Amino acid sequence: MTLLTFRFAPSPNGELHLGHAYSALLNQEMAARAGGRLLLRIEDIDITRCTPEFEAGIFRDLKWLGLGWEEPVRRQSEHFSEYKAVLDRLIAEELVYPAFMSRGEIRAFIAESEKRGREWPRDPDGVPLYPPLDRILPAKERKRRIAENMPFAWRLNVEAAMARMPDALSWIEFTDETMAATRTIEARPQAWGDVIVARRDIPTSYHLAVVLDDALQQVSHVVRGQDLFSATGVQRLLQELLGLSPPRYFHHRLILGPDGRKLSKSFKDTGLAALRQAGVSPQGVGRLIGL
Ligand code: GLU
Repeated sequence: MTLLTFRFAPSPNGELHLGHAYSALLNQEMAARAGGRLLLRIEDIDITRCTPEFEAGIFRDLKWLGLGWEEPVRRQSEHFSEYKAVLDRLIAEELVYPAFMSRGEIRAFIAESEKRGREWPRDPDGVPLYPPLDRILPAKERKRRIAENMPFAWRLNVEAAMARMPDALSWIEFTDETMAATRTIEARPQAWGDVIVARRDIPTSYHLAVVLDDALQQVSHVVRGQDLFSATGVQRLLQELLGLSPPRYFHHRLILGPDGRKLSKSFKDTGLAALRQAGVSPQGVGRLIGL
């Protein structure tokens, strides 16, 4: 029997907080119970926001918590050429297109459309969908704009992609952390519109890198926060387009701040480094998050 493989995949764009501690320790606990492996992956494709200092902080905080993981650690920024090769495939298959609208242009377009009484659709996070006007831009015009160095992002043509799906898209979700039962969830990538698959200068996005790495590292069980539940729909679509077999998923509860809101990396009081400096022990962290 092949070993079950779990992973914890933080981004070094801030300090880890109690929410990360919960996710990391839950992955460790579930892997141990299943007799499986735990990998650590550094998701640092956003080279403008990720820093070596934050990465060093991740290692320090996780070691302090008592997390153990297999070496080597995969650092996404070291694999851009691999992502680029896959992006080139998607470009060749005309599943992605260069999208040139700036934030201001998007806002103006949506405001104009809403003035005419049509409410513009929003994604599950509440962000207005990208107006997919550039899907039909003539090839010559695309080339001209790229040659002129106009900023753009590669976006998935979600309609074209869905048209290739022979069957309904779904994923298998564990109903709780004991993994005793599963349910099938319908994937709805359309809810996100034409998501960004790569940037002009960075040949990948979170969604593309995560599905490629989960497959490459043979991750069988993705355990991560509930905030990524609906994004799984986009990732399922990319897996099907790229012929990757999907892992199973468990989206765990989120640790909320005292104000009842999701923790963010700027929320200092729940940062692991700050808690450690205030004299809280790793066991104390466990108690705080109910593990
Ligand atoms: N790197 C992502 C984050 O820090 C998590 C990705 C995932 O678990 O799929 O939010």
